[in-house]
Amino acid sequence: MSKPISILYISSEVEPFAKTGGLADVAGAFPQLIRELGHDIRIFLPKYGFVGDRKFNIYDVIRLRDIPISIGDKTETASIKSSFITNQRVKVQVYFFDLPKYFNRDGVYFDPQSKKDYPDNDERFISLCRGALETLKRLGWKPDIIHCNDWQTGLIPAYLKTIYKDDPFFNKIRTVYTIHNLAYQGVFPKSSFAKTGLPEELFNEQTGLATGDVMNLMKCGIQFADTITTVSKRYAEEITTSDEFGCGLKDLLKKRRKDLFGILNGVDYSVWDPSVDPLIPQQYTHKTIQEKVENKRELLKAFKLPVDDAVPVISIISRLVEQKGFDLLQEIAGTLLKEDIKIIVLGTGEKRYQTFLSELATKYPDKVGVKLTFDDSLAHLIEAGSDMFLMPSRYEPCGLNQIYSMRYGTIPIVRATGGLEDTVTDIDSKNGNGTGIKFGPYDSKALLQAIERALKIYRDEKTWNKAVKNAMQQDFSWEKSAKEYITLYKKILKK
Ligand code: ADP
Repeated sequence: MSKPISILYISSEVEPFAKTGGLADVAGAFPQLIRELGHDIRIFLPKYGFVGDRKFNIYDVIRLRDIPISIGDKTETASIKSSFITNQRVKVQVYFFDLPKYFNRDGVYFDPQSKKDYPDNDERFISLCRGALETLKRLGWKPDIIHCNDWQTGLIPAYLKTIYKDDPFFNKIRTVYTIHNLAYQGVFPKSSFAKTGLPEELFNEQTGLATGDVMNLMKCGIQFADTITTVSKRYAEEITTSDEFGCGLKDLLKKRRKDLFGILNGVDYSVWDPSVDPLIPQQYTHKTIQEKVENKRELLKAFKLPVDDAVPVISIISRLVEQKGFDLLQEIAGTLLKEDIKIIVLGTGEKRYQTFLSELATKYPDKVGVKLTFDDSLAHLIEAGSDMFLMPSRYEPCGLNQIYSMRYGTIPIVRATGGLEDTVTDIDSKNGNGTGIKFGPYDSKALLQAIERALKIYRDEKTWNKAVKNAMQQDFSWEKSAKEYITLYKKILKK
């Protein structure tokens, strides 16, 4: 094997420590695969208040204490704590960036009580970016690559090309910046820019990190990283060709198209597979799909819905935000619920969708079950116990739940966009070939037709079972994508 590559992997969310969405699943699983392929990858994330030292065996690192971090004119003091994540085959080093003033809190990005973004998110993530670089220096570990994820880490490529440019410790390090969701850009007023310590001339639209008169940290990552990736080929195409998907950064992304690669996220089948899942009442495989129904019964009980094996259960697990297509569901809910079906939703997010869903559950107590919480165990039970899984997303960079659903034999009904388009193949109702139901236009009629098509196939048991078996046998494990990343890392290092 050629020389191992060393990578610092920075993310604001990493399973099992901190999770608000798919980024955490990726950041928890991907590094383990890279490690299995023989490379030295280490994770860097904030030490949030809810991450228990005892629970995760987190220890102080004596020589990484009292690290000064400049935030504009101020200097804050951070230290590093250490732990591992392990999948039995390998261990991955995790460094926690401990700056209690910014991170000893109950939320990742916002206050869980008020639901408002923390007002000092600029300082929090400036400190994370500077902290990562300062830590490397003190550690004396010089990775080949720093792999950044989303806007929270977007300043790092800019720091390496400016403040740290002439420092021999850093000048060989290359950066990869992965876009998990272009719509969240980390936008702050111009006054926040001074806190970054970056040279004044970077505050410009053409070659810098400004959009209009604000600082845009997503733009910063895209502008300054050596290489950019995003989480599906289709999404890479969409963000460089459509104004809507490009979220104001289309032209810049187009300019950087030759450095932008779409690499599909993998999933961790040691966590998301019904044959080994410890969180579900009845394990099963594609050879024993008849046992899946046991989970359906438990799921219906958990949502206090009448148990009936024959009635199809359509589920959603999602952040309740505009991206996920709840407005379409809202338009068709009344018509859809004339069918003999059950709908189950697990989600947290915007008030308007919470209200819609709670009202729906009140109106149809025997047909609709809603829980407005974040509950990982319940998410597993829903994947195992449902017949269909709904993702009518407006856009979807990759999406993980449709991939989990397939492995659980829960047929995804998805809009053909981003990673949904790349991972699901439409079922042919004549022979059951395919793995899910797809619809094209973002409109409620198309969604309703898609669900009705799914219900029709469901009633044809033989065809349905064939599709379920197909879906369960799809393989989206990380190995293939991790190898693509290694190839990419090597290519960058040759440049
Ligand atoms: P996104 O990253 O846009 O939120 P993904 O489909 O990529 O969407 O990933 C969502 C992840 O978050 C999945 O692992 C899903 O199970 C999980 N998730 C979302 N909402 C909840 C919730 N309320 N309870 C438990 N897990 C949730």
